[in-house]
Amino acid sequence: MGRTKLDSINEFARHGYKVRVSCSCGRKVDWSPFEMIVMLQKRRLPYDVERLEPKLRCGFCGARGAKISAAMPEIISNVR
Ligand SMILES: [Zn+2]
Repeated sequence: MGRTKLDSINEFARHGYKVRVSCSCGRKVDWSPFEMIVMLQKRRLPYDVERLEPKLRCGFCGARGAKISAAMPEIISNVR
């Protein structure tokens, strides 16, 4: 399927993807994986995507059970 193995937030950081958290209400938030790791540490949440998804709460509608997917970061001009 051409899908990179992204089963942990650490993998998003390693591949340079943003972490897109989508709720069934349509709200989508793109996290920097590094900010996400800090947040997960503070809240003692797992890095493992499968275990994390049901624990994430939407900041907009308050529902639990977000979907995590990869988002391409904007192209940064100083990357060579
Ligand atoms: Zn929501």
